[in-house]
Amino acid sequence: MALTLRETLPTPLDYAGLSRDELRERILQRKSERNAVILGHNYQRVEIQEVSDFLGDSLALSQEAADTDADTIVFCGVHFMAETAKVLSPEKTVLMPDPRAGCPMADFVTGQALRNLQEEHPDSVTVAYVNSSAEVKAHSYICCTSSNAVQVVETIPEDRTILFVPDRNLAHYVQEQTGRDNIVAWDGYCYVHDDLVLEELDKARAAHPEARVVIHPEAREDLLAEADEVTSTGGMVRLAEQYDSLILGTERGLVDQLRERYPHKTFVPLSGAAVCGNMKLNTLAKLAWCLDHGRHEVVLDEGIRSRAEQSLRRMLEVSGGWQAPSEEEEKLELAGVRPKGCGCG
Ligand code: SF4
Repeated sequence: MALTLRETLPTPLDYAGLSRDELRERILQRKSERNAVILGHNYQRVEIQEVSDFLGDSLALSQEAADTDADTIVFCGVHFMAETAKVLSPEKTVLMPDPRAGCPMADFVTGQALRNLQEEHPDSVTVAYVNSSAEVKAHSYICCTSSNAVQVVETIPEDRTILFVPDRNLAHYVQEQTGRDNIVAWDGYCYVHDDLVLEELDKARAAHPEARVVIHPEAREDLLAEADEVTSTGGMVRLAEQYDSLILGTERGLVDQLRERYPHKTFVPLSGAAVCGNMKLNTLAKLAWCLDHGRHEVVLDEGIRSRAEQSLRRMLEVSGGWQAPSEEEEKLELAGVRPKGCGCG
């Protein structure tokens, strides 16, 4: 017997028995009732991407989160991304379809472990890749993404040691690009990108000699040395508009998305095994359950949230992706004349 939209089921597993069309209809209905917006990361399953209001990398989605007028943000990505949305939009309810969707790279460093390293380097400046917990961001001076890491590091005086957490591969890439020899890299990595190897690239190149090779900076340096372009997922989306044929060294979800968007172009995954199991924990059934029940909500300690926001604000100011509200705009916000937001342009 079909379920009416008013009825709900107790667990995500019960929703898995509903058809895709039924789940989609339920998601769209509940989304409008809750005045919710669904943010989907580029690495999400295609069916999640299809019901997302915005798709992008973590920075783009964080900015959407800060800009939206919605009361509820449903973040289909991993935990640190949903936390980032909450950091930038404390007045909104942020939900995750599956709270177990964490990022193993982010888990490499904790707030306490970072503080221990900072004690060893008292004059250092900490740069936290956004793939880190809110607590780690709160203990860092500034954040960065894969698209602005070089730009962010260039703003730090050359005589200051930089503690770069948690991705050693991105840290190495930044070191190469900036020529700095005083970057202390945390020994973390993304298993999806770190597992990409030269043999796979050689095979993909032999099969598609005309394709441009584009690799994410979370990959190892020997692979980056072979790339025509090193760029973030957002950069890859822009290159896909420009070129007819690309070999993409990143997670499969982006390749699937580009194939859907440009069916006449050739997009080849550098490795068919480059799949982030954590990202794929989110399913349409869990998303429908999450919207029906208003769970799982992301809650942050206000002290951590506000300090993490400062690190993110510094990054957004540097990268031009952030227009901090002027005094005048702040007054208007307080008076309720300008919609309250974090000032993202
Ligand atoms: S792809 Fe890598 S960095 Fe991204 S969520 Fe998965 S493990 Fe973390």
